[in-house]
Amino acid sequence: MSKKTWVPLLVVFAVMVGAALLALRSVAAQEHHAAVGYEDTPMLPGGKWHVHDGKRPQPKVITPGTCSSQQSPGQPPSDATVLFDGKDLSNWESIKGGPAGWKVEDGYAEVVAGAGDIRTRQEFGDMQLHLEWREPTPPKGESQERGNSGVFLIGAYEIQVLDAYNNITYPDGQTGAVYGQYPPFVNACRPPGEWQTYDIIFTVPRFQNGELKTPAYVTVLQNGVAVQNHSKLLGDTGHRILATYVTKASQGPLRLQDHGNKVRYRNIWVRTLGSNSNE
Ligand code: MG
Repeated sequence: MSKKTWVPLLVVFAVMVGAALLALRSVAAQEHHAAVGYEDTPMLPGGKWHVHDGKRPQPKVITPGTCSSQQSPGQPPSDATVLFDGKDLSNWESIKGGPAGWKVEDGYAEVVAGAGDIRTRQEFGDMQLHLEWREPTPPKGESQERGNSGVFLIGAYEIQVLDAYNNITYPDGQTGAVYGQYPPFVNACRPPGEWQTYDIIFTVPRFQNGELKTPAYVTVLQNGVAVQNHSKLLGDTGHRILATYVTKASQGPLRLQDHGNKVRYRNIWVRTLGSNSNE
C-alpha cells in the first residue's frame, strides 16, 4: 500500500477511535450520574424526592453571560430572551399604538420626549430582568425633573429610573425605589453619562376570583448593590396615591417610561423563572 493511501486511512481510524472513546466516556458519566445521591434518606415535603435524591432532574446547563463595561455591554446568558440588543426596537411598541418611536443609534435606545412609553410585545410573569441605562449629561432639572424614566414590571409596577447623583428628591421616588412605596436601601447612583445596571428578580402577584392571593415581590440590584430585598409591593405604583392592586394580572409586558428626559437604554434581557418545589 502506498503512503498516499494509508495516511488518510490512518486519519479515519484515529477519528473513529476518538469518537468511540467519547461515547464510552459519556456512558461512564451517565452511570456515574445514576450512582449519585441517596434513596434511604427522609422524604422532602411534597412526597416525591428524598433528601439528596440522585434521580432528581439535573439543572439545565447554560452558558453564563459576561459583565458589561462602560465601553460595551456584556453578553446575556444563553437562555435569556433578548429584548434589546442595541440594533432595533422590533420587540417593542408604543403604548399609544404603533411602533416604538424612540431613537436607536450606536447600540442604545434613547427616549424621544413625547413619543410615549414603550412596551414589549411579549408578556412575562415571574422573571429575572437585566437592563442598563445612562442619564443625560450635562444634567438638567432638579428632583423628579432630572433624568426621569422608569421600568414598569408587567406594565404596572415602577422601579424608578432617575438621575439621583447629587440630586435630592423624595426618597420613595429616588433611583432604585419602588415608586411611591419603598426607597432604595442606599443611593448607588453613578454620575450622569456613565452606564448603570439594574438586575431585578420579580415575583408577580397572584389572584383568585379577582381577589389578591399573594402580593408581588421584588429584589433589585443597582450597579451590583442590593437596593430592594424581596420588597412586598402594595399594588400598582402611581403618583401621589396609596397603591392598591388595580391591575389584576399575573403577566404583562415590560414597559419603559418617557418622562420627557433623554435617558438611554441598552442590553435588555429577561429570563423566565420557575418556582422552587419538591413536588
Ligand atoms: Mg419615573
